[in-house]
Amino acid sequence: MDTMRVPGRAPASGLVYRVQHVRELSQSAYVLRFERNGLEFEPGQYVNVGPRGSIAMREYSVYSSREDDFLEVLVKEVEGGLVSRALKRGKPGDAVNVEGPFGFFTTEEPERRSAKYLFVASGTGVSPFHSLVRSYPGLDYTLLHGVRARSELYEPAVFDPKRLVSCVSREAGGGFHGRVTDYLRAHPVDPESLCYLCGNCDMIYEAFDILRSAGVPADHLFAEVYF
Ligand SMILES: Cc1cc2nc3c(=O)[nH]c(=O)nc-3n(C[C@H](O)[C@H](O)[C@H](O)COP(=O)(O)OP(=O)(O)OC[C@H]3O[C@@H](n4cnc5c(N)ncnc54)[C@H](O)[C@@H]3O)c2cc1C
Repeated sequence: MDTMRVPGRAPASGLVYRVQHVRELSQSAYVLRFERNGLEFEPGQYVNVGPRGSIAMREYSVYSSREDDFLEVLVKEVEGGLVSRALKRGKPGDAVNVEGPFGFFTTEEPERRSAKYLFVASGTGVSPFHSLVRSYPGLDYTLLHGVRARSELYEPAVFDPKRLVSCVSREAGGGFHGRVTDYLRAHPVDPESLCYLCGNCDMIYEAFDILRSAGVPADHLFAEVYF
């Protein structure tokens, strides 16, 4: 896999980081906070994280802001999952292995001042947008966050309520009852928008086709597939 160096900085790869806190957001989702150790990243990038003493590592988008003096990742515990279950048991002072940052799911400085962004997330795919919005408060964005239940709308207060559309598919009470793809089919998209899609591949493929049909050019579409 390719890695991207943040200009002028060497990636702080393969270091041991100390866990500071595990914040439970729901029965299965949690935020793992660990020391930053000077690691520089662009919001939208991910790090590889694994429990100390194991060679297993998995990719996790950075959830925290580039201004924070710690690093956070938002993790959903996957049934039978090796790393997502092990990290949840982390206690303050425990060591985790961290490599990175990696990835190109990032925004560019000149565009950030004028572009209109459409962020589309499913589940924990909201994580890079959390980092982006906290790192760059002036962004002109709309976030569609697709979840099955309201309990999966992780820490929504970070987002401007006028810019957040919570698409809840299996219970009432979201801003929109249905999937993000149902919302996209029913609501026109400005084809000039820069569209960032993050989460599971089924959502991404479907949203990609809808947006292309709505006239969004391929070079305005960016995707980060989690699984
Ligand atoms: C670039 C990138 C960024 C990612 N960022 C995040 C992130 O910010 N937060 C996050 O929670 N995950 C993220 N993931 C997914 C993460 O890397 C792991 O795949 C996930 O945590 C499962 O790892 P595991 O070791 O627990 O499960 P494994 O033991 O590797 O897998 C167990 C099974 O679960 C399936 N599976 C994997 N992920 C999911 C999922 N989310 N839901 C349901 N089934 C799944 C696998 O296909 C496999 O069949 C990201 C993946 C990529 C490629």
